[in-house]
Amino acid sequence: MTATLMDGRTLSRQLLESTAERVTGFHRSHGRRPGLATVLVGEDPASHTYVRIKVNRCTEVGIDSRRFDLPTLTTTEQLVRVLRDLSSDSAVDGILLQHPTPPQIDEHAAFEAIDPSKDVDGVTGTSFAAMAFGYRGFASCTPAAIMRLLDAYDVPLSGQRAVVVGRSAILGKPIGMLLLARDATVTYCHSRTTDLAAHVAEADLVVAAVGVPHLVRGEWIKPGAVVVDAGYNAGNVGDVQAATAANRASLITPVPGGVGPMTIAVLLAQTVDAAEQHG
Ligand code: NAP
Repeated sequence: MTATLMDGRTLSRQLLESTAERVTGFHRSHGRRPGLATVLVGEDPASHTYVRIKVNRCTEVGIDSRRFDLPTLTTTEQLVRVLRDLSSDSAVDGILLQHPTPPQIDEHAAFEAIDPSKDVDGVTGTSFAAMAFGYRGFASCTPAAIMRLLDAYDVPLSGQRAVVVGRSAILGKPIGMLLLARDATVTYCHSRTTDLAAHVAEADLVVAAVGVPHLVRGEWIKPGAVVVDAGYNAGNVGDVQAATAANRASLITPVPGGVGPMTIAVLLAQTVDAAEQHG
């Protein structure tokens, strides 16, 4: 392996420590702790694990977390009501709706029930538009986490060719926009892209955000390219064939231990941002 690993664990620790210090300062000046409400619908084991990790991290940094676990058969209307109530609850600074939600839920309607001032996961249309226009707002957490990783390793972006594989609203699209805002030349690839290999081979920076294990093959990577693997699939496997990609890339994120831990740290940092804005 020749690539340097982009160590999301260490970086996330640093961000959690600075967040804990901000929580202490906020508590001292406001007499309360920042509050994050997590809302989970259904019994998906992976979602339960993610929420548990987020709640544990809240405890570590001193954020008050309130957990709302709703039954699998919750309707959109019931979920919207919970999210609206939390949006108007002054003890709640941030709201996280764990997704994906069960199929009967209109996820768009649910996200839009979150007050944008509490949208610390960056899932509402308002947050997306703010990010796209470069206005103040909450970034989608995983894309923001990727930008922090790139900056921590001084990855040049201006003028660089970035290929984003995936175009979901929470990950692929926003990371492409954040890279564009930093003057990268961005290409989006997706399930209808023809000759994915040729696109990836042109890239100075590859961001894999697909959810297909090892889709991006090591031999596609341009020597010296930077590879960010946001994929997280069963068996702790990413979207990039890491072992072979690491022989060609200059920098690569490990899975696990790259993008994932940073995403949670960004969520908590944005919860403190929200608390500071709410006062
Ligand atoms: P998603 O909503 O399912 O989107 C997947 C995207 O990949 C879609 O745009 C899809 O294209 C594209 N795609 C699917 N098959 C493809 C193929 N064969 N070739 C090229 N593109 C293909 O997934 P997501 O929510 O963005 O998540 C993507 C991955 O990131 C998952 O592994 C997820 O677990 C992981 N993730 C990690 C974190 C973290 O904190 N680390 C956070 C969120 C997600 P179409 O649009 O054409 O269908």
